[in-house]
Amino acid sequence: MIDIQMLIGGTQRAAANGATFERRNPLDHSVATRAPAATVEDAKAAVEAAAKAFPVWSAMGPGERRTLLMKAAQALEAKGEAIAAAMAAETGASGIWAHFNVHLGADMLLEAAAITTQISGEVIPSNVPGNVAMAVRQPAGVVLGIAPWNAPVILGVRAISTPLACGNTVILKGSELCPATHGLIIEALQEAGLPPGVVNFVTNAPQDAGAVVDAIVAHPALRRVNFTGSTKVGKLIAQTCAKYLKPAVLELGGKAPFVVLDDADLDAAVAAATFGAFANSGQICMSTERIIVDAAVADTFVAKLAERAKALPLGDPRLGPVVLGSVVDQATVDRCNALIDDALAKGATLVCGGKATNTLMPATLLDHVTPEMHIYQEETFAPVKAIVRVNGVEEAVACANDNEFGLAAAVFGRDVSRAWQVANRIESGICHVNGPTVHNEAQMPFGGVKASGYGRFGGKAGIDAFTELRWITVQNAPRHYPF
Ligand code: NAD
Repeated sequence: MIDIQMLIGGTQRAAANGATFERRNPLDHSVATRAPAATVEDAKAAVEAAAKAFPVWSAMGPGERRTLLMKAAQALEAKGEAIAAAMAAETGASGIWAHFNVHLGADMLLEAAAITTQISGEVIPSNVPGNVAMAVRQPAGVVLGIAPWNAPVILGVRAISTPLACGNTVILKGSELCPATHGLIIEALQEAGLPPGVVNFVTNAPQDAGAVVDAIVAHPALRRVNFTGSTKVGKLIAQTCAKYLKPAVLELGGKAPFVVLDDADLDAAVAAATFGAFANSGQICMSTERIIVDAAVADTFVAKLAERAKALPLGDPRLGPVVLGSVVDQATVDRCNALIDDALAKGATLVCGGKATNTLMPATLLDHVTPEMHIYQEETFAPVKAIVRVNGVEEAVACANDNEFGLAAAVFGRDVSRAWQVANRIESGICHVNGPTVHNEAQMPFGGVKASGYGRFGGKAGIDAFTELRWITVQNAPRHYPF
């Protein structure tokens, strides 16, 4: 069991009233972590510490910020084993997933380091003689990042790295399901030597999330919010941000379609579908959730996919290497068992896997899924996947778009022009032709449409999200006024 602390103004802290909460392992229910249960007073203190650190951090030259972010990337990489142990204990994640998280998290810090010198503006011709007009990007102020448990390092780092690169000071609100994992990111940033108050870390008991987030967003010094998590909570965050007029980037749920056209390279499609559907037991916002396959190739594709899915090693990640570890909680198992029952009762066929009795869920494929079945629409966020058979391109596009979500998508076809046209018609923020739905790189504009949220992380889009664009002019010649 790990006992962790918050970080406010460079000081490790318990909650003001000493309260704590526990995170238990999903498989054996042993206590994985005990963390402070922040009060509203702690939440306000975190914003005040970040506001106090803002003048120094925002005025620091980009080269100095770059050096510190590069050091943080190294410090994070060095914590690979500790992070893998924390993720296995808190969320049941496999070692492969944990190390991938650390690697991409470190890469996000390196990319943030690189963009410190790329935050540029423009000079815009003015109609006023002698007037030099500029559009200038400046740090926004204090930024709140709220990250979930499922890709804890990638999404925890993403919530704060670009904001820091842009000269903002930050508060990371850790997930109740992985406070120690999120705490290790903060430790890496501290070891790199960022000045006190530049990065703050708040943990809260589940029942206090609303009050803690409200107190942070309400604070006048708080200027930007980013949230990665479910659409349900995303809507609550959007309402809170609207109440206080704070801009937000919202990265929410998904139900990624994976379209296999009749001319697809089936082996390549099967490899991508296996990876996209079952990485981290399907608990990724970009996970392949709906496999939409042309009836002409469906029998062969499904047989090959089932063979790969059945062979994926499943087990407790604390005992050895696996591909499928434990899912995050029993609620996921119960939800998916109900989805399986519903689909089978309405005519779907079980290709492999099936209902689970504990959080070790096997790779499960349901074929002949139709719109009447709940799994057609709902995010499983688990290794239980729907296969929908369609006839031709028009049906494939219609099916891909027949969903409230729109985050990631993929299309497989050897006629790349045709596959690309399909990709252009899919309503999603991200679409890969002949690649898996699960693909993230620090420099790419990442985000969704429809119920998957709004705003973009990554690269130049991230700079736009976490800076204030100001119009600044200098009058260099006598100016004419009408009176
Ligand atoms: P969640 O929405 O349940 O929780 C995320 C965060 O919301 C936690 O930090 C929690 O404290 C906070 N929260 C909960 N109730 C709150 C309230 N009333 N007010 C303010 N904050 C509150 O999400 P989760 O179950 O941890 O994550 C899984 C979901 O996240 C899935 O739907 C998945 O698709 C989505 N996700 C999206 C992306 C993306 O980039 N689009 C990435 C990963 C996960």
